[in-house]
Amino acid sequence: MRLSKMHIKTLREVPNEAEIPSHILLLRTGMIRKLVSGVYGFMPMGWRSVRKIEDIVRQEMDATGAQEIHMSAVQPAELWQESGRWYAYGPELWRLKDRNGRDFCLGPTHEEIFTDIVRNDVSSYRQLPMNLYQIQTKYRDEARPRFGLMRSREFIMKDAYSFDRDQEGLDKSYKTMYDAYDRIFTRCGLKFRPVEADTGAIGGSNSHEFTAISEVGESEIAYCESCSMAATTERAECKDAPAQTGIELKPMEEVHTPGTKTIEEVADFLGLEKSQTIKALLFVTYDEEGKENGYVAAFIRGDRELNMTKLINALSLPEHAIEFADESKMGPVTGAVGGFTGPCGLHDCTIVVDSELPGQVNMCAGACKEDHHLINVNYGRDYEGDIVTDLKVLREGDPCPVCGAPVKHARGIEVGQVFKLGTKYSSSMGAMYKDENQQEHPIVMGCYGIGVTRTLAAIVEQHHDEDGIIWPMSVAPYHVIITLVKPDDQVQAEAAEEIYSALTKAGVETLLDDRKERPGVKFKDADLLGIPVRITVGKLAGEGKVEYKLRRESEKQELTVSEAVEKVIRIVNEEK
Ligand code: ATP
Ligand code: MG
Repeated sequence: MRLSKMHIKTLREVPNEAEIPSHILLLRTGMIRKLVSGVYGFMPMGWRSVRKIEDIVRQEMDATGAQEIHMSAVQPAELWQESGRWYAYGPELWRLKDRNGRDFCLGPTHEEIFTDIVRNDVSSYRQLPMNLYQIQTKYRDEARPRFGLMRSREFIMKDAYSFDRDQEGLDKSYKTMYDAYDRIFTRCGLKFRPVEADTGAIGGSNSHEFTAISEVGESEIAYCESCSMAATTERAECKDAPAQTGIELKPMEEVHTPGTKTIEEVADFLGLEKSQTIKALLFVTYDEEGKENGYVAAFIRGDRELNMTKLINALSLPEHAIEFADESKMGPVTGAVGGFTGPCGLHDCTIVVDSELPGQVNMCAGACKEDHHLINVNYGRDYEGDIVTDLKVLREGDPCPVCGAPVKHARGIEVGQVFKLGTKYSSSMGAMYKDENQQEHPIVMGCYGIGVTRTLAAIVEQHHDEDGIIWPMSVAPYHVIITLVKPDDQVQAEAAEEIYSALTKAGVETLLDDRKERPGVKFKDADLLGIPVRITVGKLAGEGKVEYKLRRESEKQELTVSEAVEKVIRIVNEEK
């Protein structure tokens, strides 16, 4: 491709809203173009890289025996009502009506559609196992679209669904996908880590996220260097502090603690450690119509942090059905008092207690009375929970739930996730097969997603410098750029043409910068675009020489035309 003919518009200035390198660089290179918030289009260079990622995904999926299909983005509400997700998916589901008032959505994911295919087409164990996938556009009306392709409202996803007879079959299918993901993200040039994950709105039992390590990522992971524990902080189990034994339970007492609304204030005021206090977090819940239908009080030790995902899972609520409560409204109903709420004396609300608290004795908690706390509060004697479960965030330095060593934290970008769904969808939607004895069973399912466009952003996030992108060969829009310093110089132009046609003939994807621009502009653009190899054809062309340089290295080499061509072909074939 000749750059003079290519439709490309690089930007000097990027909009203020672009805060992170991948967003800034994808806009500056003109690879993506914003239409409205969270909705992007792809220009020629950007689209080539998207297709490279898709090709890698496709090759690795096909190699596992998965079969590619392509379903519509438009999905009828009825299927989502059958699975129960028309409500559970909440406001992220992009809903629409046709001219007759019938409800549809734009698919955020396709479990319902694939389950529907299989319930219609599969009846016998002989047809299993099976894995169907697609690479397709997804829609999620995200509350906060941001960071460009990272969290957008329209994006490309590869989604695969496995169908097995039993759990053992699912375990195998899951492992096959897990291994394929490993190869896919390795080929994309990413540094990543598979971690145990929560199952969220998709459901099911086990799940892993594939997290590309990056400071700007929205996923937080906890991992242990002494053992193999690695999980999202949403999911990571947090061990309870050892139960305190052999300590006398003192009588509960009310104390005057004026103005001490926070854990720090009350601990200071009473001369206690934060770990001797109980922290309250108050929530309101909503029903399917969006009406308030109850209150929840969660209690954890004062030095801990509440893990919202664990609370939501304990309550079996979708994420959008719970919010922090307005204490002035919750107070009259439940007895809660802003800043002074404790588990004693609360009524008409669900009390969820962290599993550590029953083992902690003589604690300090709010008295449900302005400016007052209770001391020597003890579980069982003074309060009880409707639900007692682990509600804690596993923080950096906390003991690893598996081996006890201090855990580490890192940030990352979730580029893919795999789920063991089990029979969640097949049971609710009636996807059954008959075994050898004509007995009916629900099909056991797994699902497997890769954010193709988010992966593109993650790659740029990990491969750039202050001058621009540094594409790994495997996903670069072009392998080589020939920078022709003076297009008007016949010797230079001829040398450039010769290299261009030799490389193109050899199957190397080559850009020829034949624009009538100053050399400085061309070099800057080549660096910005991040093409892995640059061949500069300039003054040395008279002696039959050109300059060879890799974008990722600063070193330059003078080579003859044929040496350069040979070297380029070799490195492209090695790395593509
Ligand atoms: P997140 O937690 O980031 O919202 P998710 O867990 O809801 O993502 P999945 O349902 O697992 O996402 O979707 C599969 C993959 O699709 C994700 O691993 C991610 O790479 C990609 N993805 C999800 N939401 C978006 C989005 N808004 N923009 C771009 N890619 C996305
Ligand atoms: Mg996910």
